[in-house]
Amino acid sequence: MNSITTKDAIVYFNSDVYTELNTYIKTTEPSKIFVLVDTNTHDYCLPKFLERLESGDIVIEVMEMPNGEEHKTIDICKGVWEALSEYNADRKSLLINLGGGVVTDLGGFVASTYMRGIPYINIPTSLLAMVDASVGGKTGVDLGVLKNQVGVITEGKMVGIDTSFLDTLPQNEMVSGFAEMLKHGLIYDEKYWNTLTHLEKLDISDLDNLIHQSVIIKNDVVTSDPTEQGLRKILNFGHTLGHAIESYFLENDEKTTLLHGEAIAIGMILEAYLATKVCDLSDNELEIINEGILKTFSKVEITKTDQLQIVELLKYDKKNSHGVVKFVLLEAIGQPKIDCVATNKQISEAFDYYNN
Ligand code: NAD
Repeated sequence: MNSITTKDAIVYFNSDVYTELNTYIKTTEPSKIFVLVDTNTHDYCLPKFLERLESGDIVIEVMEMPNGEEHKTIDICKGVWEALSEYNADRKSLLINLGGGVVTDLGGFVASTYMRGIPYINIPTSLLAMVDASVGGKTGVDLGVLKNQVGVITEGKMVGIDTSFLDTLPQNEMVSGFAEMLKHGLIYDEKYWNTLTHLEKLDISDLDNLIHQSVIIKNDVVTSDPTEQGLRKILNFGHTLGHAIESYFLENDEKTTLLHGEAIAIGMILEAYLATKVCDLSDNELEIINEGILKTFSKVEITKTDQLQIVELLKYDKKNSHGVVKFVLLEAIGQPKIDCVATNKQISEAFDYYNN
C-alpha cells in the first residue's frame, strides 16, 4: 500500500513500517530508544514489534502505562517524563508510541514537551488510532473529565500502520474506531460513507484499504489547515456533543463508561439532527445517517437529567469563542459547515430524536 506524506512525516503501511523504521534508526542513530506501551499493548503488541525492530547497539527501554482513557492524565505524563529523565533520555533519544489513541496522544505530548521536544514515532495498534489519533500531530491529555484540554500540535517523525495488530483488538474497540471512519465519510466523501455503511461486517481483510482511505481523508484535511484555523475543524463533526457525552459518562459512577467512538457515534446523530435545523441537511439524509450509524452502534439511554449535565459541559469545548458553542454541521453528506450555532431547544430536540 502506498505511503502517505503528511506535513512533517510519512505514514507507512504494513511490511513497509519495519523497513522504514529500521532505516530511520540506522540513519538518525538515536542515543536511546524508548517504547511507550500500555498494559494491553505490552502483552499483545510489544513482543511482535521488538522482534522486527533492528536497533543494533542502541539501548531500548520499555515504559508501561495503565490502559484506558482515565489514565490520559498529566500525572501519567509526569511518570513518563521522570522515567525518561531517570534513564538519561537526551534530545537525540527517540520515543516510539506503541498503542491506541491514549498512548499516541499522551506519548506525543510527552515527547513534544520533554527537553522542549524530542523526536517521536507513532505505531498505532487500535483501529481508532490507525485511522485518526496517530495522524495529524494533535497530542495531549485530559484535565479531569475534560477531554484533551491540555496539549500541543506537533507531528512525530513517522507513523507506522501495521494492520495485523488488529488481530488482538477486542470487537467493541474495533467498533469504536469505526465511528471515526464513518465521520470521514460524512464530512468528506459520500461514496466512502456508502461503502462503509454497506459492509456486512468489520472484517480485517476489507479494512486495509478502508484504513488507507481514512488516513488520506484525515491527511487532506490536516495538511490544508495544520493549526485548525478553519477547515481542520470539520474533523470535529460529532465531537462537540460527543466529547461532552464521553466526559459525562466518564465522571458519572452510575454510568458505564462509553468508548470514545461510541460517544462520537451518538454525537454524530445528534449533530446531524441539528444540521436539519441549522443547515440544509434533508430529513431523508438524517434518516440515512441515523440508520447507517445504528447499524453498527447500539443505542444508549440518555435521560433528561443526563442531557442537562451534558449541555453544561459544552461550555468547555475548544471550538467555542466568546462563550458561544460552535458546532460543525452538515449541509449534506460529504459537505460540512463550520462555526454553526444551535439553540438549547434545538439541542434538546436532537436528544428527543435520538431517544425515539
Ligand atoms: P485506547 O488507546 O484506550 O485503546 C483502546 C483499548 O484497546 C485499550 O484498552 C488498549 O490497551 C487496547 N488495545 C490497543 N491496541 C490493542 C491491540 N492491538 N490488541 C489488544 N488491545 C489493544 O483508545 P483508542 O480508542 O485507541 O483511542 C482513543 C483516544 O484517541 C481518545 O483519548 C481520543 O481523545 C484520542 N483521539 C485523538 C485524536 C487525535 O487527533 N490526536 C483523534 C481521535 C481520537
